[in-house]
Amino acid sequence: MFGGTFDPVHLGHLRSAVELREALALDRVHMVPAHVPPHREAPGVSAEQRLAMLEAGIGDTPGLVADARELGRGGPSFSGATLASLRRDYGERARLVMSVGMDAFLKLHEWHEPQQVFELAHVVVIDRPGHRGTLPGPLARLVAGRDAADAEALFRRPAGGVLHLQLPSRMAISATGLRTRLAEGRSVRYLLPDAVEDYIRSGNLYR
Ligand code: ATP
Repeated sequence: MFGGTFDPVHLGHLRSAVELREALALDRVHMVPAHVPPHREAPGVSAEQRLAMLEAGIGDTPGLVADARELGRGGPSFSGATLASLRRDYGERARLVMSVGMDAFLKLHEWHEPQQVFELAHVVVIDRPGHRGTLPGPLARLVAGRDAADAEALFRRPAGGVLHLQLPSRMAISATGLRTRLAEGRSVRYLLPDAVEDYIRSGNLYR
């Protein structure tokens, strides 16, 4: 599971998903757009449009799936509920992974019932340029004893471990930076897939 706001999806997300799948030999990477309360959405960009951009960006990429399960639920959804739903789909013995960028990992202890995440999945932390830091105390306690040395050690169990990965093509791209560029009428070429740029231009989004 690779969750995010994807507002909009960019090559930092998509390349990470491809390299994550390769590095861990995953069957599938479910990219799951988060429900965002309407008053917090980027003006004029709906959840359906974030999903459509994700679908356009993924295109025919093998193993990547645009997964609408959090949007279908209608209200805000917690990652625990999403992982529980994936666990129901894949069964008790499947090895499930929730991947997060380093910035998201550093706030994991602030999530709703973070302990539940480890009962359902492993957490794989992806290095992200410009985001590093020492673990806050509550996070250090949450992940104590969970570190796996490598993928083989991680996958001895179906859930509960933590693995840090440095993927080959780390990219300093953020959706915030893209929204600023688009609002200022600057180029976003080569930061997101052409199909996503076309969707943004034809819908006049983020202006
Ligand atoms: P924003 O700038 O709006 O906060 P974002 O670019 O961080 O957006 P999100 O949709 O919030 O994108 O991120 C979803 C997940 O993808 C998070 O776990 C985040 O850490 C990770 N991620 C985002 N950008 C990158 C990147 N360039 N490289 C690796 N991981 C990334």
